[in-house]
Order: sequence, then structure tokens, then C-alpha cells
Amino acid sequence: MKCPKCNEALRLAGDSPELVCGCGYRFGMVPSGTKKTRRVVALDFDGVIHSYTSGWQGTARIPDPPVENVAEAVRTLRTVFEVVVHSVRCGTSEGMGAVKKYLRENGIEVDRVTCIKPVAFIYIDERGYRFKGEWVDAVFETFERWTADRILKA
Ligand SMILES: [Mg+2]
Ligand SMILES: [Zn+2]
Repeated sequence: MKCPKCNEALRLAGDSPELVCGCGYRFGMVPSGTKKTRRVVALDFDGVIHSYTSGWQGTARIPDPPVENVAEAVRTLRTVFEVVVHSVRCGTSEGMGAVKKYLRENGIEVDRVTCIKPVAFIYIDERGYRFKGEWVDAVFETFERWTADRILKA
């Protein structure tokens, strides 16, 4: 997103639910004085926090750097929401340990890490399809993505 005043890229505030610019412009994303809620923002781990460019190497192997801006994003979200990370990696104690270590070493502080997909207000997942109650559309999109994927890899 660009600053409407100077057209530079906006940054996450980290300490408040705002977008900020070096020119002094600030954009509040919620009404001021909004209190912290128990609403959960659920983050997928691979592809959302861990950049996952090397593909799957095992539950406890997390070789790639974090996605750009993720630490700031989580800090900004946590000014209002609870942030829960879910991953199948966390089904083993080695995987859970590896995910927690990765988060710690990369300065990403979350409320909870779990192997079970939590009840959430929103799910942030790079492979998600937003279901709108129309199965025809969902099936169409699934086949369309698969076809595009195979053309890319051919
Ligand atoms: Mg993923
Ligand atoms: Zn600006």
C-alpha cells in the first residue's frame, strides 16, 4: 500500500494498529481506543511465516528465511487480536520445538502454537480459497489452479 501524501510504501506500526509513513502520515485501521479482543487470527506456518521456498524437508527441518515483514505484522495484529500459529509440524515434539525455536530466533512472538486448526476470526493461508457458499465456483477454482500449476511445471 502506498502513502496517499507522498506515494512511498506504508509500513506496519508494530506498536499500534496503524499503517505509517516516514513523512508523518498515519492511517488507523480500527477506531482509536479499540481494546484488545480474544478474537483469533490463525496463521499457517509454512508459506505464511516460514517462506518455504525449499519445500518439505521433514517436520523439524525449517531451512528458509521468514517472509518479509512477518514479525512486524504479528506485532501489529497482536495489539488487537490473539495470534495463533498452526502447523502439522507441531504434531511431534521435535516439530513443535523446531517451530517455537524458529519463531524465537526470528523475533516473532505469538500467543499460541498448535497442531490443531483453531477456531478463528480469520485464517491467513497462502493456499486458501475463500468459500462463498457456491460449490460450483469452488470446484471450478480448484481445477483451474491445478491446471495453471501443471502448465507452470511443464
Ligand atoms: Mg502453507
Ligand atoms: Zn508519506
